[in-house]
Amino acid sequence: MNHRENIRNIAIIAHVDHGKTTLVDQLLRQSGTFRSNEHIEERAMDSGDIERERGITILAKNTAIQYKDTKINILDTPGHADFGGEVERILKMVDGVLLVVDAYEGCMPQTRFVLKKALEQNLTPIVVVNKIDRDFARPAEVIDEVLELFIELDANDEQLEFPVIYASAINGTASKDPEQQDESMEALYETILDFIPAPIDNREEPLQFQVSLLDYNDYVGRIGIGRVFRGTMKVGQHVAVLKQDGTTKQFRVTKMFGFLGLKKIEIEEAFAGDLIAVSGMEDIDVGDTICPVEHQEALPILHIDEPTLQMTF
Ligand code: GDP
Repeated sequence: MNHRENIRNIAIIAHVDHGKTTLVDQLLRQSGTFRSNEHIEERAMDSGDIERERGITILAKNTAIQYKDTKINILDTPGHADFGGEVERILKMVDGVLLVVDAYEGCMPQTRFVLKKALEQNLTPIVVVNKIDRDFARPAEVIDEVLELFIELDANDEQLEFPVIYASAINGTASKDPEQQDESMEALYETILDFIPAPIDNREEPLQFQVSLLDYNDYVGRIGIGRVFRGTMKVGQHVAVLKQDGTTKQFRVTKMFGFLGLKKIEIEEAFAGDLIAVSGMEDIDVGDTICPVEHQEALPILHIDEPTLQMTF
């Protein structure tokens, strides 16, 4: 089987404040995905613009990092239990996760919640013990706590072999050794490349794309974000949309976007393994499968959270 060795798709999961945003900023900076004259206007995953669309709250932010020859797509996840469906949908788009845990605080309620979701999706997290620079950091104990949590959550043997990286996202350092930090995050990039499987390349097969998140902008309207699970998708292509209620529609793909840094970049085609955004159909919904009109095969149903009427952030 062929794999797309130059792509990795990962999600980042953590208890709030354990350093996801800082870590992704640092990975972006060190990879040089930002041009040197490009200022990071806002923090990568914390822009705070909460978009609501038909009761579905989009908190996820997509980032793509170019490291050496590989594009690493990173999807942020909400840690809060109200967004369990969204976390699950994000985890279905990726082949690996980074579990970030504060080296002083250790495992917290949201650590448990998001780890449970990742283990259920059969993913083996790379555990990042972050804030190793903190006074009273206690990495050895925190790793024991993490292991304990894996066991409580019924991790399988493979999952219990999780790799560990000790890091200080704020200082931009990382290492496999809790006693000694290296002056870059190379250990983390390399662990991502080595440990997380590259997507399968089956671009010759019939297209299957699934909408996992929705976005909107005034220029192109409603945007479906998801993964190409199989085949190839092109701008201008006439496709069928299989809805979760069993109905079918057809539309023409007008625009497609890939991600680079914090931006969406217009693209002409995408292949199995790519995470992309698609526009052209106004009433696209989470869970929709996009496929060729002549080869209609739906992907499994996705879970959508009940709309939450009152939320505090
Ligand atoms: P998020 O909620 O997981 O996205 O966490 P943030 O990235 O916003 O970080 C929460 C707080 O922890 C901020 O004040 C960061 O500056 C701080 N922080 C993040 N990484 C580190 C680190 O490696 N060391 C220390 N000492 N503080 C950090």
